[in-house]
Amino acid sequence: MKIAFFETEEWEKKYLEKALADYQLVFNNKPLTGETASDVIDCDVLSTFIYSSLKGDVLAHFPNLKLIATRSTGYDHIDLDYCKKNSVTVCNVPTYGVNTIAEHTFALILALTRKLIPSIDRTRRGNFVLDGLRGSELAGKTLGVIGFGHIGKRVAELATAFQMNAIVYTRHPDVSYPNSHVRFVDLPTILRESDIVSLHVPLTAETKHLLNKDNIRLMKKGSVLINTARGAIVETEAILWALEQGILSGVGLDVLEEECALKEERALLTREFLATCDLKTQLLNHVLLTKENVIITPHNAFNSEEALQEILSTTVKNIEAWQAGKPQNTVGV
Ligand code: NAD
Repeated sequence: MKIAFFETEEWEKKYLEKALADYQLVFNNKPLTGETASDVIDCDVLSTFIYSSLKGDVLAHFPNLKLIATRSTGYDHIDLDYCKKNSVTVCNVPTYGVNTIAEHTFALILALTRKLIPSIDRTRRGNFVLDGLRGSELAGKTLGVIGFGHIGKRVAELATAFQMNAIVYTRHPDVSYPNSHVRFVDLPTILRESDIVSLHVPLTAETKHLLNKDNIRLMKKGSVLINTARGAIVETEAILWALEQGILSGVGLDVLEEECALKEERALLTREFLATCDLKTQLLNHVLLTKENVIITPHNAFNSEEALQEILSTTVKNIEAWQAGKPQNTVGV
């Protein structure tokens, strides 16, 4: 069986060669197009990221094609109708980096509650004075988790390990959720009762400005806001207003409202994304960056070795499961 990988980096090639040693593998670091297709037209399996074109006109080059294993969550770069008509199975990587993002959420929380950035800044300058560096404990505090999917659940689990109470606002509350420290509430209640609010919903028409100038005033005086989901879920002006009013005492953001239309995080590490989207300028334009009690990371929450490795190991498992006649993570069927 011949597998053609596109959009691969050198480290990915090494991993895949080892993991799929029994198969004939061909690698191309460029995206799949009508031109790059010509070298591998006899392949049985294609594996790409999102910058490859897997529309009918390109796929028609591959008479033996039986499986597309995209190394992404999204699959709108793939012509699913063509695949259905031509009996090509398509599978994806439904989720990756759940621990990575949940841990980054707590990195932001702890950096704010233990005043880590000013503490480190100060000692680097040889100043060991404690004035203004008093922090607060997480134990006994309430964490409000908005969105209870893969990441929100893991954040709530970590919260209970810190002996926090977790309250959750999500679209479909799971009332049978087996953790008595987790309670499902409505949006106004989560804003009123939480010491820390952390966002884990996708950005949709419904969640755009879910937290806004009207409802941010409900938040507890001195509370902390964390956003590792998508910038536009919170109205930026509302954050600035709440900081000025002392409603928010700290804000930790991995995402900002003006980031380019980003489909999934792995794209941030590609040449193609960087060529079209100047994240640095957008970050620098932001007023929030000048605030001392706001910490911002450059949309880096997903970026761990383990998360990127998970994409590859899921892809390998997808190929092996399909080869064994038990396809997994299939889409468009
Ligand atoms: P998920 O799909 O597993 O969970 C989303 C949750 O939000 C679900 O519980 C869903 O019911 C809930 N939800 C959806 N719409 C809602 C609404 N209108 N009101 C209330 N709840 C609603 O997603 P996930 O894997 O947990 O990821 C969450 C988000 O995190 C992603 O959509 C993505 O934007 C973001 N993310 C960020 C990074 C990063 O590096 N910063 C990395 C990965 C994901």
